[in-house]
Amino acid sequence: MAKAVDFTYEDLAKVLDYDPLTGEFTWKVSVSSRALAGGLAGVRQRMQNGKDYLSITYRGRKMSGAQVAWLFLTKEWPDRSVFFIDENPDNLRAPNLKIAEHKAIRITGKDGKTSYKMNTEQARHYGLARSYGISYTEYAEMHARQGGVCAICGLKETSKLPGRKTKDSDSRTRDLSVDHDHATGAIRNLLCNSCNHILGEAKDNSKVLRAAADYLDRHSQKEAA
Ligand SMILES: [Zn+2]
Repeated sequence: MAKAVDFTYEDLAKVLDYDPLTGEFTWKVSVSSRALAGGLAGVRQRMQNGKDYLSITYRGRKMSGAQVAWLFLTKEWPDRSVFFIDENPDNLRAPNLKIAEHKAIRITGKDGKTSYKMNTEQARHYGLARSYGISYTEYAEMHARQGGVCAICGLKETSKLPGRKTKDSDSRTRDLSVDHDHATGAIRNLLCNSCNHILGEAKDNSKVLRAAADYLDRHSQKEAA
């Protein structure tokens, strides 16, 4: 997520045009033999996730289409990732762009080089898309519909993510898990870590789970008697 672009909005706006309704970039002037005035700017490159991302090269600097779109919309380079709300990086229309709420975590290596690590929000975003095929927006909607609690026990998630303890212990609380039908792959609801494990241990067998509940009831009645 290099923001190390020397150009300002004013510099780029002289040579490039962005249409927020179509998401297309057009060269205003010819900047190279392949980037001619009036032509669409940028090339799409297939990334590891199989999706095509637009990059625009100007004076030897390769820039991400999403970052340049953000620059045109706000006149400032984004200092964090820009998301595609519909998960389609080909859709650079303004309403499809959303900036991350948190900055990426900047790491300076022993060699003095700077790199960026995904922050929790970005990791969630990409993790959800990769693991469950849903976007962060869809997740947030499900979360809101359930009132932020597990669909089985009705409680908030309390289990922590593995890893080093930090001062900000809230950031280590897991998110409710996206539970899906292992047979069909269909998404069911959001569950807490414990309830998700209960289903997993019972191999999603409702008979076993009902029998386990009856078993507990039988024994608690004995105790009460
Ligand atoms: Zn639960």
